[in-house]
Amino acid sequence: MIHIARTAEEAVALRHSLEGSAYLAGGTEMMRLGSSLSGVREIIDVSSLPLSGISNAGGKVRIGALTTLQDVKESLLVPAFIREAASFCASLQLRNAATIGGNFALRRSDSYLAAALLAGECSVELMCSEGVKVKSADEFFRKTECRALILSFLVDEGREGRVRRIGRTSHSHAAVIGAESMGCHAFSISGSGTACGHSRDAWKGIDIRDDLTGSAEYKRYLASVLF
Ligand SMILES: Cc1cc2nc3c(=O)[nH]c(=O)nc-3n(C[C@H](O)[C@H](O)[C@H](O)COP(=O)(O)OP(=O)(O)OC[C@H]3O[C@@H](n4cnc5c(N)ncnc54)[C@H](O)[C@@H]3O)c2cc1C
Repeated sequence: MIHIARTAEEAVALRHSLEGSAYLAGGTEMMRLGSSLSGVREIIDVSSLPLSGISNAGGKVRIGALTTLQDVKESLLVPAFIREAASFCASLQLRNAATIGGNFALRRSDSYLAAALLAGECSVELMCSEGVKVKSADEFFRKTECRALILSFLVDEGREGRVRRIGRTSHSHAAVIGAESMGCHAFSISGSGTACGHSRDAWKGIDIRDDLTGSAEYKRYLASVLF
């Protein structure tokens, strides 16, 4: 069943009251055949909430959760390494629908944006059942059972950093994506997990496994030479 949320508060209340529910943002994962979300029976459509757009206030860039990856890629307000991470989604059609909130919330081990947002030490503004809270992206990412709705991401204006993606082709799943920003390193390693910390060895905290992108040994090597 599809429930159209009229406010962020209503969306969160539905998410808590409906067992096996999930939010629908761009729908690129939710509506994908064979998706890991194919068991979801109660869909909470948040796509018409006013949560898209990019602005700058008081030295912080705010990126609304419903902002598409294409809009992130094109915005000169967004730090360059985060824009580059949005372009790791090689398909224009996908970038035009997929949202930054949906991408981060999926916590995929080959996530386009997770490493950049974690290394950039972004904050996440959330609507929880108790109201609006601001958490670090890292704290949100580690809490896999969180039912909060992401409202926006906040990152320091002009934050500098770099991202690297290794995959067989631009359209294949990435084996390793790494990001570094002001000494904070984050790694997404396919089939294995995500880690961040103030060391270029932060990837060593991930239990790296073989998968279709390559062997564990190959991915360990890539992570060790990425920066
Ligand atoms: C062919 C194909 C290849 C893909 N390859 C990759 C890939 O290599 N790497 C990758 O990272 N992704 C990949 N994806 C998945 C997906 O397209 C992206 O991750 C996308 O950014 C998800 O955003 P969405 O808005 O479409 O999310 P949706 O599909 O609408 O939702 C996905 C999940 O995010 C949650 N969610 C959505 N918005 C919010 C919010 N504001 N707050 C809290 N939770 C929220 C939902 O509850 C749901 O669980 C691929 C998809 C396709 C179709």
